[in-house]
Amino acid sequence: MTKFLSILLIILGFTSLSPAIADVTQVRIVGDGAPTRITLWTDTAESADGLLTEGNGERKVVLLLAQNGYSAAGEGNGGVESWSLEPGRLEFTLDRPMAVTRMLRLPPTGKERAYRVILDLDTISPTRYTVAARRDTKKLAKLETQFAEARADAKKLAGAATATRKATGPRKHVIVIDAGHGGKDPGALAVNGGKERDITLKAALALRDILEQTGKYEVRLTRDTDVFVEHEDRVTMARNWGAELFISLHADAAGSASVAGASVYTISARGETRIDRESSRNDWKIAIEDGTPGQLNGLLEDLVKRETKTRSAEFAELLLPELAAAGPVLRNTHRNAGYYVLLAPDVPAVLVELGFVTNADDAKRLQSEKGRKAAVTAIASAIDAYFDQQDLRLASN
Ligand SMILES: [Zn+2]
Repeated sequence: MTKFLSILLIILGFTSLSPAIADVTQVRIVGDGAPTRITLWTDTAESADGLLTEGNGERKVVLLLAQNGYSAAGEGNGGVESWSLEPGRLEFTLDRPMAVTRMLRLPPTGKERAYRVILDLDTISPTRYTVAARRDTKKLAKLETQFAEARADAKKLAGAATATRKATGPRKHVIVIDAGHGGKDPGALAVNGGKERDITLKAALALRDILEQTGKYEVRLTRDTDVFVEHEDRVTMARNWGAELFISLHADAAGSASVAGASVYTISARGETRIDRESSRNDWKIAIEDGTPGQLNGLLEDLVKRETKTRSAEFAELLLPELAAAGPVLRNTHRNAGYYVLLAPDVPAVLVELGFVTNADDAKRLQSEKGRKAAVTAIASAIDAYFDQQDLRLASN
């Protein structure tokens, strides 16, 4: 027997620039070929799009993933000799002709955060294989192309939001600075009598000035006076302005007066689960080009969300050393939280706690001209580094 089948199951997965984020976290194969059951655990929800056989004569079942971050391998069972996971691809080597006859996708249950994909493989005749292979080979090539295009589009869409770009002249990067609290919401109260809402506003104005001086940025503020602004309006503003980076400024409070230092937050896994709900409630639609095949819309949206998350983390990692050089920082300074203002599906966003107003030194630093300048200079340096990195990446693509 020389001819075996390749079954190609296309799982519309997620992309990630970070190798730390994996799609498939576990693979289990049990059974005797009638059927043999493959269970995959993944760290994100995904939509499976098609089940394809390929007539290339190799004994393989291949799962194409939009992108998977790491490599792994293991033994098989019941007609499946072994499996190997590579970025973007999961392969099962077969010792007989088989077809996937059933596929189930299960959401996380109980405390478990993993999603499961279950595939049942049955042994089939070589004739049936040949027919399926002829039918599916072209379809597969087309899907692979669509995957590549979707990944490229997602990179462009992340941070581009919905705003129309000016096509003339060197474009300025759009940065939205969000001064936390305001008006009837004073935020945290400082030990020396100040209020968070005033600290964040002054910092936002100072950051705007320093960024505008560079001539490289178009800077927008969600508020530039002492007014109250709803959380969802802050996000909506950022999206409508086409924000490429959203920075929310706050000052923290702690029960202990000794806790001090700045910290940076990006969206937490728990917070992420709110993105879809808030997006549909507030109509934060990811801009997808007309004419995109319907089946790819979900994939593109997922890719954009993951790209956005990756970029938020990249900015946070650039910001931390700058803040640390400028003043005290908290331990485990890059943290994750479900703050509402971090929920935009397509705008990279961080929340900066400039320090603790419950600490006497921090409170003084945050309300002094010198302390404020040091903090916003640090943030501006990180913004420069971030966009240098993004522009370089675009240029090399
Ligand atoms: Zn706050």
